[in-house]
Amino acid sequence: MIDNERDLNNDDVISSFFDSQTSTVCDDFRAGFVAIVGRPNVGKSTLMNHLLGQKLSITSRKPQTTRHRIHGIFTDDDKQIVFVDTPGIHTKEVKVINERMNKAAISALTDVDLVLFVVDALQWREDDLLTLEKLSTTTLPVVLVINKSDTIKDKSQMLPVIESFNESFDFADIVPVSALRGHNLDRLKSVIGQFLPKRPAIFDSEQITDRSERFLASEIIREKIMRQSGDEVPYDLTVQIDTFKDEPAHQDPETGKWRKAVTFIDATIFVERAGQKTIVIGDKGKRIKQVGIEARQDMEKLFDRKIMLTLWVKVKKGWSDDERALNSLGY
Ligand code: GDP
Ligand code: MG
Repeated sequence: MIDNERDLNNDDVISSFFDSQTSTVCDDFRAGFVAIVGRPNVGKSTLMNHLLGQKLSITSRKPQTTRHRIHGIFTDDDKQIVFVDTPGIHTKEVKVINERMNKAAISALTDVDLVLFVVDALQWREDDLLTLEKLSTTTLPVVLVINKSDTIKDKSQMLPVIESFNESFDFADIVPVSALRGHNLDRLKSVIGQFLPKRPAIFDSEQITDRSERFLASEIIREKIMRQSGDEVPYDLTVQIDTFKDEPAHQDPETGKWRKAVTFIDATIFVERAGQKTIVIGDKGKRIKQVGIEARQDMEKLFDRKIMLTLWVKVKKGWSDDERALNSLGY
């Protein structure tokens, strides 16, 4: 009996110690999930990358470059923002892959604390309003982010546009930014902070993403192909990582020399038609070589080590229309 009582008391002391520890951390700290939504090409990926100060999400001039949800994590002294980059919400396309992208975009809205609705300061389109319509079903706070403010010479041009957006939706706040130039991003971060719940950090403060390096590698390769091939290759190509092998630093048994740690990556680029394969490879293999060089440089920066990259191009006919093929590629 007495022993029990003593145990109980000890436990109490321990738990109240932890409580007081956690509460000092919790008091002012805020953390939560933020979805970035908007039609393709308004600059969602650019915005996330610049908010993070790291390149995680691929960007290009072509719409629909982003096909997955990506968690980018930003942590400072008083908050942790976990960004979810969504593919644009599609309204017209019928292909299976687009339905899946749509699902990913909408499901991204269920587990978040705040939505950033991104629009282009210069181009208002019907799909902006359609996306807004989809948002009207949510009870979450929505912050309107008017991106590409650098393209507006006369700032007063923006006022009527802000007004009309404001009439169609009850925004929690409106923040004009230039994702590309980094204008007003600190203000956006503090606005975001106000809407996050008070709680301790969800991820380690050092962590910048919950995505695997394998996944990031495939996204980097995809971005380089899209950039190199302009409009000649449609967005519906995919990259599969076949090998991702780390070799630690080691001493060469024959020469006795030390070799740096290196990661070997083999990847296959799947396109839909033989013609696209020719384009991706380029004249005498020039294009694929350039894709390889740029992708490797980005990976070495992001992963902070030496990379050996080998690329293959294959035709997988009609894959973006075929459920089974999509499943085999992990969609
Ligand atoms: P997403 O499809 O919404 O993810 O758009 P991206 O981030 O891929 O950007 C689409 C294009 O818009 C790219 O060419 C970006 O460089 C460009 N862009 C993004 N933000 C800005 C900005 O603030 N100003 C300008 N001028 N261009 C931008
Ligand atoms: Mg994107």
